[in-house]
Amino acid sequence: NDLSALLATWKPTNMSRRQSTRKIYSPEEVRTAITNGELVNYYQPKVELSSGKVVGVESLVRWKHPQDGIVFPDQFIGVAEQYGLIDDLTRAVVNGAFAQCKTWQDYGLHLLVAVNLSMDNLTQLEFAGYLLATAASAGVPPERIVFEVTESRLMNQVSTTLEILTRLRLNRFGLSIDDFGTGHSSLIQLRDIPFNELKVDKGFVHGIAGNATLRAIFSSSMSLARQLNMKTVAEGVEDQADWDFLRKTSCMLAQGYFIAKPMPADEIPIWISTWEDKAKY
Ligand code: C2E
Ligand code: CA
Ligand code: CA
Ligand code: CA
Repeated sequence: NDLSALLATWKPTNMSRRQSTRKIYSPEEVRTAITNGELVNYYQPKVELSSGKVVGVESLVRWKHPQDGIVFPDQFIGVAEQYGLIDDLTRAVVNGAFAQCKTWQDYGLHLLVAVNLSMDNLTQLEFAGYLLATAASAGVPPERIVFEVTESRLMNQVSTTLEILTRLRLNRFGLSIDDFGTGHSSLIQLRDIPFNELKVDKGFVHGIAGNATLRAIFSSSMSLARQLNMKTVAEGVEDQADWDFLRKTSCMLAQGYFIAKPMPADEIPIWISTWEDKAKY
């Protein structure tokens, strides 16, 4: 298979990374953050490449630390996963994201809201029921929610994981395979799990205009998604060149710093109005 062969030889380059002093937080600190309500969801817009229309947002958790300021998820998600705190963390994120989706809906802003799930959330069947019940009590139709699951962590999954994801999809939640291309298990997973969206990892997106390998991987991913009837998203769109190139491909949606950075929920409506006023289209 073409795509598997391309991915096998692929060596990722460094993306522009924020320079942060990496502090490792203890499980006690993370637990306190969850129970004290210090976690907040930021939202990053997802726009349609053909029209510029804002179709949805991805929820990205931030920790408003009383001393350290805004802490990014790579400094506490791993700790939460390792110390059995990820279910409580995800529940906090889900409650916030569903409530926010409902608030926007009541304003007439019909956005798809994507929520990242950890593989460690997908070990007990009740989790699917929990998500359905939470959506129902929040007054949000499942069609409005997309769950993103990272490809690299989907390998060798037990049947429970597959069953939860299948249940979610049968109940009309969206399912997105995140960081596509990073797991090198792409094709097997796509056959077994009813994903309806493929999100190409940012490592294959930024710099695409000037890199033949990236273009080859990207276009193979697009044709795979088309054959499997999946929506397509490019993440990590960082500059005009990325954007101009992607507009000429069959990719449907784009997300990245060039369009907008993740922002607090109340900035989203304002951002949308300025974006739609811009002469980008
Ligand atoms: P991800 O799901 O792949 O999210 C995309 C990450 O790329 C986000 O980092 C986002 O801010 C960043 N990003 C967006 N546009 C660009 C761009 O143009 N260039 C570059 N270089 N980066 C861009 P963030 O918010 O720091 O999140 C990092 C990871 O933490 C996420 O990766 C996701 O795996 C995890 N995460 C975030 N929120 C949650 C959550 O609520 N639950 C769980 N389980 N994981 C989460
Ligand atoms: Ca994601
Ligand atoms: Ca991603
Ligand atoms: Ca990621």
